[in-house]
Amino acid sequence: MTRIAFIGLGNMGAGMAANQAKAGREVLAFDLSSAAVDKAVAAGCRPASTVAEAVAGADAVITMLPAGPHVRSVYGEQVLSAAPTSALLIDCSTIDIDSARAVGEQAKAGGFRFADAPVSGGIMAAEAGTLAFMVGCETADYPAFEEILQPMARAIFHAGAPGAGQAAKICNNMLLGISMIGVCEAFALAEKLGLDPERFFEIGSKSSGQCWSLTTYCPWPGPVETAPSNRNYDGGFLSALMLKDLKLAQEAAARAGASTPMGAQAEALYALFDGLGYGQKDFSAMLQMFRGRLDDLKA
Ligand code: NAD
Repeated sequence: MTRIAFIGLGNMGAGMAANQAKAGREVLAFDLSSAAVDKAVAAGCRPASTVAEAVAGADAVITMLPAGPHVRSVYGEQVLSAAPTSALLIDCSTIDIDSARAVGEQAKAGGFRFADAPVSGGIMAAEAGTLAFMVGCETADYPAFEEILQPMARAIFHAGAPGAGQAAKICNNMLLGISMIGVCEAFALAEKLGLDPERFFEIGSKSSGQCWSLTTYCPWPGPVETAPSNRNYDGGFLSALMLKDLKLAQEAAARAGASTPMGAQAEALYALFDGLGYGQKDFSAMLQMFRGRLDDLKA
């Protein structure tokens, strides 16, 4: 039986670890929060009381942690010294490219195969096993990583060399942040111009402004039943997480010498929204800022 060590059982990791267990794998689960470990046990995992205990004898180690410093410390101080070198190491967290590359190099120097494999899709996709993975790893290692990720995925892409998974993720999310702001602005303007927003949705959806942020995740309540706009923007993809990803994109752009003025503007707008206290709302709630209706979000 394939043995998986799963470290980081938060909003995302909980569902992902449960899907590994559902696929018939033996999952050793560890988190700093004992409540998170208890939840994983209820979902079919076995508890581990330390990282070292979780990774001993593992065929694969999967991490789903908040940010770069957590990933550097968990691998550098705990995983690499305790896991067998045959174990595949997969970090699914969204982190800065430099940290991903540094951990990858450290792992390689220790004789391990390592992949950065951040995901697209939120908590519901993590629970349903329908995440999209963007994998950065050596080409020869990719099939083995793909096989481990399968029970958690609707799509898996080999983005390129180590670090390329994080690069693909932040480019995608920078585009998403910009496109959502564009859709929100268009609705705010349509309303001021006296257009029926639902009529504008129908027209935009079949015209050249069509995009995922409009037709699948519409920020105007009504046209797309499953969108967070119909639940007062609760759940979904938090604005605070969009801000995190936009910051990572701007840091990467500055280091690479890339010009990303729209990404910079998107970061500034989400920083403002977060600063006003709406970081826990879905990122499509930006619409209410452009409409001057932020008070509605408190209702
Ligand atoms: P979360 O804060 O809910 O979970 C992180 C977990 O890691 C927590 O349970 C925490 O206790 C644990 N943890 C922290 N340090 C640890 C350590 N040293 N050892 C063991 N456990 C430790 O975060 P999340 O929403 O699950 O997000 C995880 C990652 O996935 C982030 O990098 C995030 O950017 C990314 N992501 C999140 C979403 C989303 O919708 N929530 C979507 C895509 C990607």
